[in-house]
Amino acid sequence: MMGGQVPILVLKEGTERETGRNAQKKNIEVAKAIADAVRTTLGPKGMDKMLVDSLGDIVITNDGATILKEIDVAHPAAKMMVEVAKSQDTEVGDGTTSSVVLSGELLKVAEELLDQNVHPTVITNGYRLAAEKALEILPELGVKVDNDEILKEIAMTAMTGKNVGDSKDYLSDIAVKAVRAVAEEMDGKTVVDVDNIKVEKKQGGGIHDTVLIDGIILDKEKVHPRMPKRVENAKIALINTGFEVKKTEISAKIQINKPEDIQAFLDQEAEEIRKMVEKVKEVGANVVFCQKAIDDMAQHYMAKYGIYAVRRIKKSDMEKLAKATGAKIVTNLDDLSADDLGYAAVVEERKIGDDNMTFVTGCKNPKSVSILIRGGTEHVVDEVERALHDALKVVAVALEDGVAVPGGGATEVELAMKLREYAPSVGGREQLAIEKFADALEIIPRTLAENAGLDAIDIMMKLKAEHQKGNKHAGVDVFEGKISDMLGNKVIEPMRVKKQAVESATEVATMILRIDDVIAAKGSDKGGKGPGPEGGMPGGMGGMGGMGGGMPGMM
Ligand code: ADP
Ligand code: MG
Repeated sequence: MMGGQVPILVLKEGTERETGRNAQKKNIEVAKAIADAVRTTLGPKGMDKMLVDSLGDIVITNDGATILKEIDVAHPAAKMMVEVAKSQDTEVGDGTTSSVVLSGELLKVAEELLDQNVHPTVITNGYRLAAEKALEILPELGVKVDNDEILKEIAMTAMTGKNVGDSKDYLSDIAVKAVRAVAEEMDGKTVVDVDNIKVEKKQGGGIHDTVLIDGIILDKEKVHPRMPKRVENAKIALINTGFEVKKTEISAKIQINKPEDIQAFLDQEAEEIRKMVEKVKEVGANVVFCQKAIDDMAQHYMAKYGIYAVRRIKKSDMEKLAKATGAKIVTNLDDLSADDLGYAAVVEERKIGDDNMTFVTGCKNPKSVSILIRGGTEHVVDEVERALHDALKVVAVALEDGVAVPGGGATEVELAMKLREYAPSVGGREQLAIEKFADALEIIPRTLAENAGLDAIDIMMKLKAEHQKGNKHAGVDVFEGKISDMLGNKVIEPMRVKKQAVESATEVATMILRIDDVIAAKGSDKGGKGPGPEGGMPGGMGGMGGMGGGMPGMM
């Protein structure tokens, strides 16, 4: 584009374009709709959502990350909101609803400033200053995490609101033990990789039958009934190739003239298979975990040699087994040697519910544990899995950082108060943005109160008054309908959860505010004409279907 000339943007016919205030308004509208969709689930008194997918499968949950994962959104701003939840989930495992609700609120209050003609750049600057300040203040609220009791409280807080009945105490205990088992010291720091905790679920029994196993559980039975049910001092071979005769890529014709030739041919195949098993036996393995198939002939020989074998194991499980038992995964059987074998004290098949599962316990590496989740129905088992996912992650994060903060909105209100004290020192129009940021933080306690059916205005007034008096840990007691000390109520969360929520919410809100031009190619489903009756989002929850169409029966 040369100077003086009007820049020409060549857009294909059918491209939709939304510019300036319009683009912003629509993006904000969409982001708010996403926040509203999960808002009612926040906190222990939050409601559940029933999600029905296009195949009619039902998920009942209160987990923000799950809800957003299941609903199928199309508008780019909506996708950004879903990303916030996802990153919150992968980084810290909890606080997904909070981060989305906070993002929505940051945008909502920003709109009030936009209406007063405050430039988006000023707002985003103010928000960034506010977020930085908030993260600076956060540690002042921190309490030390130095014993299992507090870790358990953190797990319990993460599980409140999940449909796991009266089993939170029991599950928290398991979560803390599991995390402790896999925690490692590295350069003087505690590191926890929760992926080392393998979670298996099996419908049946009750939640209290959920157990922590020292070792690895495979949802697989041994391949042959005549194999031993239990092998002690297991020498384990991890094989990544099938025990079967390889089919050639090209189809070959074999000319057989005499009946003896058929027999010879079959004998040769059997011989090949026998040699494979022979090799395994030779190096001293008495357990074979195979990622591929094990054919009948191989099963027969393995059973004959007293080898316990499992086939078609997932790659990720093979890797876990390698880590736990110290075995090397071998692709070419010719290369298999005794050095490649792993060790476990016991490998055995146990009947769980209606199925047989394989338990590998007393592994070489003690830092590998599994949790076997039990529960009456599939829905229960799934919700326990989600609850444990959150609990394991928060306990891990809290143990790594060694610091936690009070929940129930206490932290958000304290941060808001401190930010309002800080705002005048910045001055100008950024000051307004910082004050709005403070207002937005209060959405958390306000929503907790609303979801508990309390008078939110009254609660907020009292809550702020407590903080003015210096009660940093005062929060919403949703069960008693009053203000209480959250540490006293054992409502406590890892500091990293709050930090991440502030960071990611600020990031997405500022990103959305900076967009003043949406150019969508023809056919790209950016939510039709955006919110409003004529677009894909008739507003409110009914609109969710319109945004993606994937969840017609939602709520
Ligand atoms: P998220 O996906 O954001 O974790 P939750 O539905 O788990 O959403 O709700 C988390 C919020 O509920 C946090 O602000 C937390 O402090 C609060 N909370 C959890 N347990 C309690 C409780 N017993 N009393 C008050 N607030 C609680
Ligand atoms: Mg939570």
